[in-house]
Formats: sequence, structure tokens, C-alpha cells
Amino acid sequence: TSFEDLKLIDPLLDALKQLNFTKPTEIQAAALPPALEGRDIIGVASTGSGKTAAFALPILQKLWEEPKGLFAVVLAPTRELAYQISQHFEGLGAAMGVRCATIVGGMDDRMTQAVTLAKKPHIIVATPGRLNDHLENTKGFNLRNLKFLVMDEADRLLDLDFGPIIDKILKVIPKERTTYLFSATMTTKVAKLQRASLSNPVRVEV
Ligand code: AMP
Repeated sequence: TSFEDLKLIDPLLDALKQLNFTKPTEIQAAALPPALEGRDIIGVASTGSGKTAAFALPILQKLWEEPKGLFAVVLAPTRELAYQISQHFEGLGAAMGVRCATIVGGMDDRMTQAVTLAKKPHIIVATPGRLNDHLENTKGFNLRNLKFLVMDEADRLLDLDFGPIIDKILKVIPKERTTYLFSATMTTKVAKLQRASLSNPVRVEV
């Protein structure tokens, strides 16, 4: 397959050319067709496989079709990974004017983040603790219109004990949404999170 065969929209095909992504990686070739059909996805794949674009492309494609305010939340286990994912969304969404916010703990202060959130980003890439902090404490911020939830590196999210916080976040987002879960390994804990958060998912493995 090629990216053209997958019927991606022109702004994404242009961005892929700019990035020199000439053909889909294995996980992209497996995940993109069901994802573009609107299915929930479990991706068993590790860093380096091209998994980020495998979830970013269908989200951006859908955002183009129905531009809305807040569209997707990506949960990542670490700040570094969150920044990398944001960069990926910005690169792929460059021609679309995508607004992406990275909301992580540590030095970034909550006030600056609250201002960023008030500007209604399309995509929020976050570590779970700080996102939940804003859900509980930042006036006017909620995820009631969310369309996509991504849990990236789910095994690491759970190893870092983000499980209870993710459960809290799951309670305040719409049940009607699309969910992608990516994990390098399929542990018992990941399977449990999967059952609690995905609906009739397609499993892709590389
Ligand atoms: P990831 O597994 O998402 O962290 O991606 C690993 C690396 O592969 C990143 O540097 C991406 O920019 C790159 N990459 C992702 N998809 C492709 C592709 N289709 N062709 C070439 N490079 C890619």
C-alpha cells in the first residue's frame, strides 16, 4: 500500500511528502485502513514502528472533515514522549492549521497552561496527572465534546500507576468517541484497561 491508496486527504499527503515519509510503515499499513473507517484500535507496537503517525493521521483526517474545537486527547506516560507526539501532530497537520497543546507536569506552570487550554486547541497531548489537575481545577475547561482518546504506551502508563487517574478521565469524556490504545506489550493490566475503554476494537500487531 501507499499513502495515496489509503485515500488520505491532500494536506496530509503533502505533509507526508515534506517529512519524506514515502510509504507507510508496517503498523501504519495495518492500522490506517480500519482507523480511517472509524474503528477503535489496539496497536501492539513499540517506539520506532511509526505508531505515532498511525494514530495521528486518522485523527487529522477526521478533523479536516468536521472541524471542531477540542477534538482529541492523547495520554502519554512521560513529558518527553508528549512533546514528541505534539511535534508529530504539528508536522503532519502543518497545512491544516492544527492547534496542538502539550500539557505536562513539572516546570510548566498551571496558569500558562490554563491560558493555552482556553484558546481551544484541537489536540491536547498530556501526561494524565496534569490533565486531570486541569479537569478538576481549571474553570471552563472540560472534555465533554471530545471525539478521540489515545492512550499511548499504555503498558508504561499503567506501570507508572496512572491507572486510577485514567479511570477518572474516562468518567468525564463522552462514551461516544473513538479510542486508540497503543502498547509495546499486552499485559493483564493493559487488557483490563482495554476492556474498560475500547469498543469492539480492531487489534493490529507488528
Ligand atoms: P514512532 O514509532 O512513531 O516514534 O516513529 C519512529 C520514527 O519513524 C519517527 O522519527 C518518525 O518520524 C518516523 N516515521 C514514521 N512513519 C514513517 C514513514 N511512513 N516513513 C518514514 N519514517 C517514518
